[in-house]
Amino acid sequence: MSRLTATATCTAHRAIVEQTGQVVPQPLLAERVAWLTGLARELTADLVAGRWSAADLDALASGVGLDGCALPAKGWMAVRRLGWGLSPAAGVHMCDRVARCAQEQAARLLRLVLHRRELVAAIVATWPREPGKRTDAEWNALRAVLPDGVGTAEIRNRTRQIRAYRDAHDGMLPADLTQLEEPPACAAQIVLAAADRQLATLERTGEHGARLRVKLPLTASPASAKDWAWHLLPITLPPTVPAEAKLCTPTLRVAKGRVRVDLPFQIPIGFAPATGHVIGCGFDWGLNSLLTGTVGHLTAEGRVVSDGRPLAYDASGVSAKLHRLRAEREHLAAKRKHQERLLAGITPADPRFAELAAAYEVISVEHERLCARIRHLNKALAWSAARWALDQALAAGATVIYVEDLATLEARGRRGRANARLSGQVRGQVVEAIRHLAAKHSIAVVTVPARGTSKYCPRCGDGTSLLRHCPAPDRLAERGWAWAHCPACGLSCDRDWAAAERILARGLLGQQATRTDRTTGTRTIRQVVEGNVARARRARKATRAARRARRTRTDLHPRPAARDRAKNRPTPKRPTSTPNRHAANNVTTSSRVPDRRTVPAPPPTRGGQRPAGQAPQTTRPAERTGLVRDPHQRTGFHRVAATPVLPLGDYADGPPRPRPPDLPEILR
Ligand SMILES: [Zn+2]
Repeated sequence: MSRLTATATCTAHRAIVEQTGQVVPQPLLAERVAWLTGLARELTADLVAGRWSAADLDALASGVGLDGCALPAKGWMAVRRLGWGLSPAAGVHMCDRVARCAQEQAARLLRLVLHRRELVAAIVATWPREPGKRTDAEWNALRAVLPDGVGTAEIRNRTRQIRAYRDAHDGMLPADLTQLEEPPACAAQIVLAAADRQLATLERTGEHGARLRVKLPLTASPASAKDWAWHLLPITLPPTVPAEAKLCTPTLRVAKGRVRVDLPFQIPIGFAPATGHVIGCGFDWGLNSLLTGTVGHLTAEGRVVSDGRPLAYDASGVSAKLHRLRAEREHLAAKRKHQERLLAGITPADPRFAELAAAYEVISVEHERLCARIRHLNKALAWSAARWALDQALAAGATVIYVEDLATLEARGRRGRANARLSGQVRGQVVEAIRHLAAKHSIAVVTVPARGTSKYCPRCGDGTSLLRHCPAPDRLAERGWAWAHCPACGLSCDRDWAAAERILARGLLGQQATRTDRTTGTRTIRQVVEGNVARARRARKATRAARRARRTRTDLHPRPAARDRAKNRPTPKRPTSTPNRHAANNVTTSSRVPDRRTVPAPPPTRGGQRPAGQAPQTTRPAERTGLVRDPHQRTGFHRVAATPVLPLGDYADGPPRPRPPDLPEILR
């Protein structure tokens, strides 16, 4: 039985000093925690800055300590094995466990640096002729030296960074990451996981409660052991932490005057096998919508039969909002940079300095808030989409979800340009969220190669019949991108739906080639196995009226009794109404115009609120997509149109499916 780790962020509102029973209110508790995190941060920053050299990073990367043995996995132990000591400020008394936590945080930071360093070294080693556009050969050369699972957004950003360095240094490429960057900033937090019961213990006090016992300093610079005291922090656990979860030692930090407890917890999860799947879901990163999916099963003869339902999660409204926010962020960043330049040019004695500094401060705060807004919206959208995808898979009784491999998708770079509205970062977050949620339900998440998924026909299958892309089903002769049409078999459907069917086919048919990454546990199919996808139609259950008609042997659609069948009089004229006259402006309107008065607009709910942009129904007519904008589908967004989650019965003579869970349960 494996375990899934998640982190719940809780707040400690007060504490009790263990020895005296004195209640410590939140402001004082926050101050004491800030003293502790401040001590740890100082030590961490010293250690990281002191080891910011290629030789020291090489030593950490080699994984071998001074004694010639392999470095332990625990960061603080590895740092000590390398002989990297700490130099606490003179006159400050602290137990060794605080130093341990500082070393742990430094080790985590430096190990993250190693990843970036590897990336930079690979990009520098395969520096392209034209950094803006790599050729296919250059991409392949880069991919060959890169570690697995590096997204294109990361490569692009690093390439830009190196290019800026090269431009500033007369065409010289950086020899190491330490030349390219300053030492990373250290957060004011204390990783209690590295400590033991001499600094912190955690116990569960009930279904929704836990108690953290931690030693906190009583002054900013504790001089002796008397300046430290044990504090008991009661914590209320959020409802996302189940009763059977195993709580791990948290990380403490102070945010906005509150003591935040980042509490990791582990829940047992079942095993999701790599092969042997019969029912699966395929999801495509849509051009028309954020996610488009389809459900299908593998028949005994080895054919893939989809249930013929396009599933779509359309977040164009939210994407448009994100797009606007990003543009505004760029604008603010440019403004801030300009003010920074102006400030650098004058001295504090200058009469303009105070005003400019105040304006700079305002812009900085606004920029930070905007970044946070974008981050939160991205996260909310990603989790909402992932929840929806998993609900669809659960309702269909699927045991596996297939998505496109983001690395192969973005390396091509072609589709990314067409859909700049959705950043690759959101896609990565969606995949991570789907993986997390699927693990809870023992559903496997497997990535398949993205190349050519929307190029070939899913009905003709064999990977030879090219799809034509056109703007709409009634404009098949024109060139476009939203609609797919196969001249060979006549298939005409939404482009993303066709791609989702091919993803599903690649997954279900190629499941024997599934590879599992040993460290991360992610599952991938690298081999492309093509096959066609048939669409099954559900046998419709007879309606109650039809059953009654069959039972009573009556006509299902009886004609109305003809009262006046014989035409023996002229058809009466329709009554003509008098022309409508609006009292206010005395305008005569045609009798065909219904007499409707305009309703006054509802009062604005809040000042300063702007309309949230183009609603999805104007870009995607509901009759075309079959989407339902139903608030009870709980996507968490007003401007998201998603296919409702319907637990439907069998659609083909496949194997018996597990009973779909009840709707309230899967929507949870
Ligand atoms: Zn076809």
